Amino acid sequence: MLRVQERIVGHACPPGRFVRRGAGWRPLPLPVRVFVLDHPEHGKFLWDTGYGPAFWRATRNFPARLLRWVIPPRLLPEEQLTRQVQVEQLAGLGLSHFHPDHVGSVPDLPRLPTWVLRAEWQRVQKLPYFQSLHTAHLKALFPTGDLHYFEDLESRVWPGLEILGRGWDWFGDGSARIFPLPGHTRGHLGLWMETGDGPLFAVGDAYYVPEQLDGVPLPAPTRWIVEDARAYQATLDKLAQLRRRRPEVTLRACHEPVSGLQHHG
Ligand SMILES: [Zn+2]
Repeated sequence: MLRVQERIVGHACPPGRFVRRGAGWRPLPLPVRVFVLDHPEHGKFLWDTGYGPAFWRATRNFPARLLRWVIPPRLLPEEQLTRQVQVEQLAGLGLSHFHPDHVGSVPDLPRLPTWVLRAEWQRVQKLPYFQSLHTAHLKALFPTGDLHYFEDLESRVWPGLEILGRGWDWFGDGSARIFPLPGHTRGHLGLWMETGDGPLFAVGDAYYVPEQLDGVPLPAPTRWIVEDARAYQATLDKLAQLRRRRPEVTLRACHEPVSGLQHHG
């Protein structure tokens, strides 16, 4: 059983109409959510890192600076991960994928044992420079600590979760399970957590806003920014089914607004 805390580490601020139909051009601040897992034996682990000052350093010059234009980021000083989490107490880090809003604090952290999907890691490392920018990957933010691979952990199908297929058992006791949720990126991952309040499923960027699970499509151009559109839809269908079959599970996407439609600025 885990104790889990959600933290908002910056916001992505696309024009509202890129995320919700009819929302207008005003920026819609979407939180960038990370999870701090407290395991009774293994200690504190972080799932994704949010934006960090390193993102601004890495995008100072063109062409990397373009990444600030595509989805304008915002990080208030008090939102910095290092202000919210005692990072020197962390035992490790897990990453859902390698986009800048998920690895943007990595260079600002101590070098941590880091768990990733080997297949995704090898893929994004090999991307030529312009292709990596085109797919929103900044190698300056990639992890430098000891890497561990989810594929090397024991995998299984959990009863009642057959729809998610095989998952990897991060701590060996079923408290944290890693499931592939492909589409947003090819090796995009979700993290299932068993908490005292019931299961919590961090689904990363499998969707941005919950109405996508009801079949509401993302407006263009956001719906085009997926690496595999067919896999993205299949993942959405899976999560919609999971929500129907297991209503007690809390689904939490990285960027979903905390309560309903929120406009700022
Ligand atoms: Zn992403």
